[in-house]
Amino acid sequence: MSVVTETSLRCDLLVAGGGMAGVCCAIAAARLGSRVILVQDRPVLGGNASSEIRMHIVGATGLHAGLPLRLEPREGGLIEEIRLELAVRNPQRSPAVFDLILYEFCRAEPNLTLLLNTTVVVARVEAGRIAEVTAERPSTEDRFRIAADMFADCTGDGRLGAEAGVPAMRGREGRDAFGEPLAPAAGDTKTLGSTILFQARKHDRPMPFVAPPWVRRFTAADFKLRPFGKSGADLGLEYGYWWIEWGGCLDSIKDGERIRDELLGITLGVWNHIKNESGLDVAHWALDWIGFVPGKRESRRFVGQHVLTENDLFSSRAFPDAIAFGGWPIDTHPPEGVDAPAEPPCTQHHLPWLYDVPLRSCVASNRRNLFFAGRNLSATHLAFASTRVMATCAAIGQGVGTAAALALRAGTEPAAIAADPALLARIRQRLLRDDAYLLGCRNEDPDDLARRAEVTASSAQRGGEAIQVVSGQTRSVHGSGETGPTPAGNQWENVLRELETGRARAPHLRATGPRLPGLAPLAQRSRRRPARPPRAAVAGARGGRRAPNRVRHGPASFPHAVAGGWLHRADGVGPAAARDRARLPDRGGDRRRLAPCAHRDGQLPAPARAPAAGAARRRRGPADHRLGNERSRPRADLRGAGLQLKPAAPCASVAGFHFRMPPENLPPELAAAFPAAGRIVAAQPFGHGHINRTFVLTAEGGTRFVLQQINGRVFRRVPELMENIHRVTTHLRAKSPRGLELVPARDGAVFVRDAAGEAWRLYRFIVGAHTVEQATDPAQARETARAFGAFQAQLADLPGGRLHETILDFHHTRRRFDAFAAAVAADPCNRAAAVRAEIAFAVAREADADRLLGLLARGEIRERITHNDTKLNNVMLDDATGRGVAVVDLDTVMPGLSLYDFGDMVRTSVAAAAEDEPDPARVEVRLPFFRALVEGYLETAGGMLNAAERAHLAFAGRLLAYEQGLRFLTDYLQGDTYYRIHRPAQNLDRARAQFALVRGLETQEVALGRIVAEIQGSP
Ligand SMILES: Cc1cc2nc3c(=O)[nH]c(=O)nc-3n(C[C@H](O)[C@H](O)[C@H](O)COP(=O)(O)OP(=O)(O)OC[C@H]3O[C@@H](n4cnc5c(N)ncnc54)[C@H](O)[C@@H]3O)c2cc1C
Repeated sequence: MSVVTETSLRCDLLVAGGGMAGVCCAIAAARLGSRVILVQDRPVLGGNASSEIRMHIVGATGLHAGLPLRLEPREGGLIEEIRLELAVRNPQRSPAVFDLILYEFCRAEPNLTLLLNTTVVVARVEAGRIAEVTAERPSTEDRFRIAADMFADCTGDGRLGAEAGVPAMRGREGRDAFGEPLAPAAGDTKTLGSTILFQARKHDRPMPFVAPPWVRRFTAADFKLRPFGKSGADLGLEYGYWWIEWGGCLDSIKDGERIRDELLGITLGVWNHIKNESGLDVAHWALDWIGFVPGKRESRRFVGQHVLTENDLFSSRAFPDAIAFGGWPIDTHPPEGVDAPAEPPCTQHHLPWLYDVPLRSCVASNRRNLFFAGRNLSATHLAFASTRVMATCAAIGQGVGTAAALALRAGTEPAAIAADPALLARIRQRLLRDDAYLLGCRNEDPDDLARRAEVTASSAQRGGEAIQVVSGQTRSVHGSGETGPTPAGNQWENVLRELETGRARAPHLRATGPRLPGLAPLAQRSRRRPARPPRAAVAGARGGRRAPNRVRHGPASFPHAVAGGWLHRADGVGPAAARDRARLPDRGGDRRRLAPCAHRDGQLPAPARAPAAGAARRRRGPADHRLGNERSRPRADLRGAGLQLKPAAPCASVAGFHFRMPPENLPPELAAAFPAAGRIVAAQPFGHGHINRTFVLTAEGGTRFVLQQINGRVFRRVPELMENIHRVTTHLRAKSPRGLELVPARDGAVFVRDAAGEAWRLYRFIVGAHTVEQATDPAQARETARAFGAFQAQLADLPGGRLHETILDFHHTRRRFDAFAAAVAADPCNRAAAVRAEIAFAVAREADADRLLGLLARGEIRERITHNDTKLNNVMLDDATGRGVAVVDLDTVMPGLSLYDFGDMVRTSVAAAAEDEPDPARVEVRLPFFRALVEGYLETAGGMLNAAERAHLAFAGRLLAYEQGLRFLTDYLQGDTYYRIHRPAQNLDRARAQFALVRGLETQEVALGRIVAEIQGSP
């Protein structure tokens, strides 16, 4: 009978492999509430960084990288938290203390079960999913059968995936396999080699070294390209040499024992040469440690849902499912290692920009519930040569752990995440909240109080404004590659400009509220500790344009009173009790006393920012950093920057409410201002809009309302805007009772201002209807067009004169063309020469810019009331029938041309490709969608349109695409100052995609005309 004890375990996520990828994956998922088992086959964590191997962690901070990249690419999130902890608690760089700290990190997580000395050896697959793995721990004669909903292979060697039958790549792919220019003409099975490091110590007397007979013998010629320093200078003897590399021509898994033996001989041979033959002054140096576990650079790489390639890296291809970024150069080594002394030990192909790592490269292609992270990522040999560094692996691990935890909650399998944009958005927002950085991904978390904070610094440079620390975009990473070394910053100004013109759906940035009292002393404390490097202390506000390390002590302002007169506890305890608990008066008096839990939600969170604070967080216990308790905390990056954060309101009096967001963020005076709403018992943030703040309020009895704070930065003339909306909604409701209905304030006004001067309006909630984000079939396009057509037609007889023009010249194509021509003439970035073809395309169509304006001037078409934001999700569809019942988001309703609205529908729904599709050939005109739009639009607006308008339906789509293309190209020529970009030449890609649509619509002109004619002719 076997002495082995068999135990069955179950968890949500099993992580195999405790290197940096596996550790970060497991911790991220555990902190988000998943029950995680981390299985590591060795006694310590850290993989190649552990005391057994001793590689040091690097990441996107690639040496000698292009200048824009050099600025601020350091990873945030868990790896930063670990590095900061190490900086404080292991300045001596003890490898054993490194192990210990990783061990502590894992032990601190109550949701994480750590199985050390345990190896995953079998995976059982059922119906395309891994059902269970077997893991063995020989030292205790244990065998575990571990069932899980999801699995993550972070073993480096890919044992779990291999056992589960996931296809893998090995060696170097040939050039044709993925079209990679740096790849060899023909593929082979050779990999990067392995390495054994050594460490030596200087003694106070000469220390001999007698080489055993089995060491390799070297001569000085072998080290021409592998120097080990000069006498008197740093010889690197305390660290060893990464270039002691060998085994890339063998199988790094199956030949592992042979590789170790050979590497021991090589490493000792190098030491022998240094010590006994080089003539260097090393007599007092003696070997202290030599590794027995070779550091393995490369083994299996899996085939996932996407294989990341050299081209993805060089072009910084934007992936909507990016969960991490990289930036280390494509760092290739000769597989022969030290056996190729005439070849440099590495060749580093520097990347121009940071790049996205998509989640799909971390999801198995043929197993529905298997992720990978770290070395066995789905990447070609060349892409892997960059992603393999440990901070990048760790960032990917955190991305995978976060994705796993949120997918588990959503009941979505790993294989299906990429097809779920809402889930992806939640994952990415969560990563930002947890201090990860994602290229171009803005913090849009409606529950993040920090977004409504005012952030100031005593001074800041252009492009490095203090408010950026809450934007999610805290680094300057993408610059202008063509125009020289100056990075373009993270385009913050563009966001502000977009906000001002109303085009952007950007975060609400500024709100005022009570000052957090703990912040200034903390910041002062950090100032008193100059020894801490600013980079380490300012995890998210780092960079070349860092704000100075000073705190501004301005007057405290408390415009949002804490106690709510409107919001009542669900258990019947009224506002007075809530007020008492919060110990804050309704108005006046001393409002500086903050509620008890302000420190939890409003305070800087402990992890990651200051190492000691990280330790403190773990001492406080797990509950502090699990989801739910940290939802509203602001990012912590502000402390060391000397920045000032004012959260909108403390949260004490919310205890007992079922609110996702502290209801006291709603100014209490609103309760009195909107008496018609009655007694409100619940308030929840609502929707994904980025301009206005929106809440759903539930009154006693269940009636719901939509409360919106109108963004005064975007809409500066609120009275005019609201007058438009009031007139329009009143008129529409007389014709269609399910339309939007404003709830008047006590004095009959259609909006009120709170004590801070912010404008608020209240709508009745439209029940039994929903919105859709993207048209996936023509029927949805038809409904959208039908609803917008009805909207225009029903407003054709609006009494009371012309509406206010809230945004001037919104679609004035002549003015757009003139702006483009001026940009070409000025050519401030010397880009015009390289885009001659696009300029010629635009110039050739200049006459189009005047066509509708000419019709209008001649009276052939007339001004109408238009919506001006005719995207799909501005139409509410009936839950039962799918028919459009109401058009919403009326902030841009104003005088315009009906054809602009129809043209924008065509522009946004007819091409399936993304707006920034880099390959214009993929921008195809989907005729069925065009047909559906015409059908829907004419069904409701047909009776209103005159012959000229009908005759220009197809042209309108072309014109709007042309106008948008002009705007993108103008911005590209001007140096990308208006539209935010996430990669170089993105605006050029956008312009090309729009022009490709123009070309497609031109090519299809006859077919489009025929469709319009057919539909007009039909009954
Ligand atoms: C010589 C060398 C020098 C390098 N230099 C650097 C450098 O300077 N900086 C840098 O950042 N990166 C460097 N790298 C790259 C980097 O170390 C690796 O790419 C990185 O360690 C990958 O991390 P990982 O978590 O995916 O895998 P690993 O670090 O390999 O960790 C995987 C872990 O899984 C465990 N495991 C394997 N199989 C099983 C199983 N079946 N069950 C349970 N556990 C298992 C392993 O024991 C290991 O601990 C270097 C690599 C080498 C080899």
